[in-house]
Amino acid sequence: MRYTTQFLLSAMAPEQFPAPGTPEIAFLGRSNVGKSSLLNTIVGEKAAKVSSTPGRTRAINFFALLDEKQRRKLLLADLPGYGYAKISKSISAGWPAFIEPYLQIRSTLKLCICLVDSNIPPQESDLQLIDWLRAAGREIAVVATKIDRLSGNERTRNMLALRKGLELEEIIPISAKTGYGINKLWARIEAVSGAEE
Ligand code: GDP
Repeated sequence: MRYTTQFLLSAMAPEQFPAPGTPEIAFLGRSNVGKSSLLNTIVGEKAAKVSSTPGRTRAINFFALLDEKQRRKLLLADLPGYGYAKISKSISAGWPAFIEPYLQIRSTLKLCICLVDSNIPPQESDLQLIDWLRAAGREIAVVATKIDRLSGNERTRNMLALRKGLELEEIIPISAKTGYGINKLWARIEAVSGAEE
C-alpha cells in the first residue's frame, strides 16, 4: 500500500499535540544517529526536511500517512535529538520539558522506535532512554543505523555488543542509504498500528 505523507504540525506544548485518534509511532535517537535520513526513506525527503528547519528542531514534529482516500492511517512523531547533555538523572535533561509527558501519557502512542548507531559502542544515554521507556510501559523497537558502513564481521561484533549493552534480545539493523532492514521495520510498525507498507 502506498501512502502519501502530510506534515501536520510542530508541537512545543501538550495542548498543541494533534487530537488523538490515529495510532502513532515515535522516532527517538541521539543527534546525528541518522533519524532524518531514516525519516526521509519513510515519509519522503520533502516532508522530513520540515523537521530540520530552524525553530522545529526542538519541537515534536508530527506527520500523517494518508491512504488513497486521504484517511489518516498512522501518525509519526519525530522527537528532538538528545545526547548533548552529560549523563543525567533523567533522560529528559537537556530535552524540552514537554517530551517526558508526551512519552508518558500520549494514549495513541503504540510504538517507540529508538535509533542507535551501529558504528559506535552502546551509549549510556541510549540505555537511559530505553530503560525509561521500559519503566513507562512503552513498546519499543530498537534499530541500529548506518549498518552499510560495517563489514560482515564488524556487523556481527557490533550488533552483539549493542544487544548486550542495551539489554535487548532483538535490534533491527538498518541502512537509510541502501534500504537494508527497512521492510523489517515496516513489518514491526504494521504489527502495532495496522498500517501496511
Ligand atoms: P540525525 O541528526 O539523527 O537526523 O542524523 P542524519 O540523518 O542527519 O545523519 C547524520 C549523518 O549520518 C549524515 O552525514 C548522514 O548522511 C549519515 N547517515 C545517516 N544514515 C546513514 C546510513 O544509513 N548510512 C550511511 N553510510 N550514512 C548515514
